[in-house]
Amino acid sequence: MLVVMRHDAAAEEIQRVVSTIEELGYQARPMPGKQRTTVGLVGNDGRVDSSRLAALPGVAEIIHVTQPYKQVSREWKAEATLVRLAGGVVVGGDEVVVMAGPCSVESESQILAAAHAVRDAGATILRAGAFKPRSSPYSFQGLGRPGLALLKKARDETGLLIVTEAMDPEGADLVAEVADVIQIGARNMQNYSLLKRAGRLRKPVLLKRGLSATIQELLLSAEYILAEGNSDVILCERGIRSFDSQTRNLFDVSAIPVVKSLSHLPIIADPSHGTGHREFVQPMARAAVAAGADGLLVEVHPTPDRALSDGAQSLYPEQFERMMREVRLIAEAIGRRVAEPAGLGA
Ligand code: PEP
Ligand code: MN
Repeated sequence: MLVVMRHDAAAEEIQRVVSTIEELGYQARPMPGKQRTTVGLVGNDGRVDSSRLAALPGVAEIIHVTQPYKQVSREWKAEATLVRLAGGVVVGGDEVVVMAGPCSVESESQILAAAHAVRDAGATILRAGAFKPRSSPYSFQGLGRPGLALLKKARDETGLLIVTEAMDPEGADLVAEVADVIQIGARNMQNYSLLKRAGRLRKPVLLKRGLSATIQELLLSAEYILAEGNSDVILCERGIRSFDSQTRNLFDVSAIPVVKSLSHLPIIADPSHGTGHREFVQPMARAAVAAGADGLLVEVHPTPDRALSDGAQSLYPEQFERMMREVRLIAEAIGRRVAEPAGLGA
């Protein structure tokens, strides 16, 4: 439920709404807007008698959010959420933010080579997993803690921000020490204890769509994070399972405008896991930016043929460079621009 205040509501009137919500046994989330303040009521509001709130001075109207997800919905908040990262990088605004790097951290030389290559081509965030959720227990599981230390080194050396995956609640605490953005992968989209922990950590979260998740399920998972008080959530379309084996997943470009219509959260696209083959990554990256994606998550490896995971979908650095040139043109065509790494260009 949302309590919309009159545009001229006084601070005391807003405070009275907040304390009434709390007296009723719920949490109040005041959200000052450009025109007026709204106060969200957090909790199961099915049995709240809204007449008590509606009668308070300064209240313009009560809105019952119709979606099963509340705080992530456009009904709750009409304006786009801007997720502000270190170094002034903003996801969800005019700029398209590119996150690139190998699937996994494999060694110091590999991650540093990858970091320099993606930075030189214009990425602002380095992606790479230290903890890898692999479908087979016999596949490379990631370097773990030492991998995080290597990511920190890459950050220090290049100034790139870091996005890396956490697989469980304890791991999230560890990852939060190094990461600028905590990634929750497709296989963990419905790991509710991980979502709750990420919601309590004061770090931005990149939440990837589950292997067979509907858009509603993705938004409900994001709701878990917001419900814990963390609204810095970036959603990610990474393809869903389909009957066609020509691509690894069915990259759902339509999810981008659909999510934007339903939610104020930013959404980025991962054409690497979305297609599974490097030859299809560039066209789908272009499509995603054209469709309004707020960023891209792309796998790039200095030597993809020797990658320990996801080599077939990893771009060669020169392919990534070309992709960046193309997506800059597309971003400009729709009145946006690609964010530049600090110290390089505008
Ligand atoms: C990844 O980003 O490397 C990854 C494991 O992706 P997903 O969770 O989308 O499969
Ligand atoms: Mn991968």
